[in-house]
Amino acid sequence: MVVGRQFNKFNSGTKRKWSGSRYAPKRKVCSFCVAKAKTVDYKNPLKLQQFITDRGKITPRRKTGVCARHQRILAIAIKRARHLALLPYVPAHLY
Ligand SMILES: [Zn+2]
Repeated sequence: MVVGRQFNKFNSGTKRKWSGSRYAPKRKVCSFCVAKAKTVDYKNPLKLQQFITDRGKITPRRKTGVCARHQRILAIAIKRARHLALLPYVPAHLY
């Protein structure tokens, strides 16, 4: 009985956590769509840096909120920028 009640309490607690405003996931909007960009400039490493991790990896769409179309264009732009050594493939060795 006690175990069952605790389980129910736990369930309702997690449910509240997700539906409540405190932990609700913020709706992200694609920054390229906002700017009405049709292409992503591969010669602009400062902009592209926002979409790679500190390990040089391309950030997934679920984290940045970029739409599928722009993520595809962005990935190609990042790969081009890496090839031109504007962005790193791997972070620099510190020592
Ligand atoms: Zn977009």
